[in-house]
Amino acid sequence: MPAVCVIGWPVEHSRSPLIYNYWLKAYGIDGEYRREPVPREEFKAFIGSLAARGYAGANVTLPHKEAALALSQPDERARAVGAANTLWLDNGTLRSTNTDVEGFLDNLDACAPHWDRDLRRAVVLGAGGAARAVIYGLVARGAGRIALVNRTASRAEALRESFGARVHVTPWQAAEGALADADLLVNTTTLGMQDQPALALDVSRLPDHAVVADLVYVPVVTPLIAAAEKRRLRTADGLGMLLHQAVRGFTLWFGTKPAVTPELRGLVEADLRTSRT
Ligand code: NAP
Repeated sequence: MPAVCVIGWPVEHSRSPLIYNYWLKAYGIDGEYRREPVPREEFKAFIGSLAARGYAGANVTLPHKEAALALSQPDERARAVGAANTLWLDNGTLRSTNTDVEGFLDNLDACAPHWDRDLRRAVVLGAGGAARAVIYGLVARGAGRIALVNRTASRAEALRESFGARVHVTPWQAAEGALADADLLVNTTTLGMQDQPALALDVSRLPDHAVVADLVYVPVVTPLIAAAEKRRLRTADGLGMLLHQAVRGFTLWFGTKPAVTPELRGLVEADLRTSRT
């Protein structure tokens, strides 16, 4: 029976078991997905013994994503993002990827078809790990100009160095000005998340065709998504991204490409409502 786990420290909050065990049941696959709390100092030994523990692969969450990259054979995507969140054993070789890129893109494709047809200007808020995945995806989809807005300018500069001249570091005070001709706005900061400060940004400045994506998924309807919906803009929320990013791992480990269904979304949404991050 193929088994897979999510490795983190802590790992109790992870919704991955809910998502993968739903798919295992839905597709009638005799497999198992577990949580493995592993402290930083034990991570290397743990992933070195994945096969001996009966695992075909694993998801990796905080604080291990950079170590997972260093200790595996990453694909180009994981290398560019600088972190791996999905591991699988391929004839004894431990390979890795970063599924946040396709989670972000596939969710937009599902929620706002053709969002990238004429993507001249995007505004990305934040320059952390999630922003790297988002910018990698936007460059891959041909975004013309990406205004990158971050509280700490040096982190934004580092992303510009990684991803090139399409990325324009933009001061926080200039963010609202950049909205006027934006085709896409993406929030990758923690602003708007439960127990975090609100994101103060006036979406009324966006053009009518603009699409708004928020990576935050607690709460599911963030103030940014609510404001964009009120304006009747097309939106893609963080829960959709979370579900779409899980598809690749399941396909790699269990050989079936699973569907992101309203039923699965409802299940995870209910869980997010009743528990904390
Ligand atoms: P991270 O590396 O810690 O980056 C956090 C970002 O938020 C940084 O740009 C930081 O700016 C900014 N920030 C934090 N507090 C701020 C404040 N008070 N004012 C202005 N900016 C602030 O985190 P991450 O891994 O990129 O994750 C970011 C968010 O994306 C989280 O909410 C996470 O849950 C979400 N996420 C969702 C998915 C999904 O599947 N939906 C996937 C990945 C991440 P500084 O650089 O100035 O500190």
